[in-house]
Amino acid sequence: MHIVLISTPIGFLGSGKGGGVELTLNSLLTGLIVKGHTVDVVAPNNSKLVEDSKKVKLHFGEGEEQKSWQHQDYYSPVSIPNDSLLSEMIEKAIDIGEKADIILNFSYDWLPIWMTLNIKIPIAHLISMGSESFVIRNLISKVYSKFPNNFAFHSKLQASDYPFIENPIVIGNGFNLDNYIFQDCKNGPLGWVGRVAPEKGLEDAAYVASALGEKLNVWGIVQDESYALKIEKLFPGILEWKGFLETDKLQKELGTCRALLNTPKWNEAYGNVVVEALACGVPVVAYKRGGPSEIIQHSKTGYLANPDDKESVLNYLKIINKIDRKNCREWVENNASSDIFAGKVISWLNKVIKEYQSQNFPKC
Ligand code: UDP
Repeated sequence: MHIVLISTPIGFLGSGKGGGVELTLNSLLTGLIVKGHTVDVVAPNNSKLVEDSKKVKLHFGEGEEQKSWQHQDYYSPVSIPNDSLLSEMIEKAIDIGEKADIILNFSYDWLPIWMTLNIKIPIAHLISMGSESFVIRNLISKVYSKFPNNFAFHSKLQASDYPFIENPIVIGNGFNLDNYIFQDCKNGPLGWVGRVAPEKGLEDAAYVASALGEKLNVWGIVQDESYALKIEKLFPGILEWKGFLETDKLQKELGTCRALLNTPKWNEAYGNVVVEALACGVPVVAYKRGGPSEIIQHSKTGYLANPDDKESVLNYLKIINKIDRKNCREWVENNASSDIFAGKVISWLNKVIKEYQSQNFPKC
């Protein structure tokens, strides 16, 4: 298959601003290449891909980035800046897509989803967030009524944010396991990984670490400075800021933790960091909210606490060493490798392409 991937217009690949989408795109690429597919990636200027293969070509788009939807009011109208990066990326993708089998869009935005109604090339959308915008939700509903196969989700709970979707296509996510080394460190520190932004609920993890009289190691890009400062003031001396690290360094440090805390305040679409921790053998204590509740096996690879119940997180951390760290790695190997993920993506895309063929949409 010849696939054109549209990356996120929030930040270049490698910036960390695109959150989990950056790693998801790279892992998928790895899986697709191993399976012999050819891929063109359209991404913001300065983007770097992990995969270096003759089967992958990177094309750059330039212009002003989009503002992330989760940091806007739910009822905000769509805003497309003059000199729009997103529109340039889409124009390039359509141009290349005319000779490809399908376009796969990773950007959670209005324009590429709307294009589904207006181009003849098959365009599939991997939705990376729960419902974070009224206007996008309604557009998905409209496009879904005509093209029900063109949308896939990372988890069932994420898809439930779009109640009009019956029998959602749920494809999980995938990780290149060669990049994560198992570590058997039962006495390490507590870890937290993610974009430092309100929807990620770092304050609850800081509360738990502080109640245990421990430091909390925090890895990730600080997306909201004032939010980070507020937590520091609330829990002085608790947070150890480790910065945003590339996967190789991140997994080395993360693997030394005795547990990862995952305390999101939004309907987490998937939760890449949960799986990355498990891949290193680190059990996870998370809120039963969104993707992590479909990933973590309670009492086997970590613990699930009721949403916002910090005291339960605290109590589960006290018994975290009951978890056999090998179970954590094993779950990822059996459920979330880049190979398994690429296989699910390919069978979804085949379904989309077949549907277009049956509707007699000639490829340009
Ligand atoms: N991440 C990283 N280096 C860091 C901290 C985080 O590369 O120091 C990446 C991590 O690998 C993950 C992403 O940031 O892929 C966060 O994704 P997640 O799905 O957990 O949340 P999102 O940001 O998409 O809401």
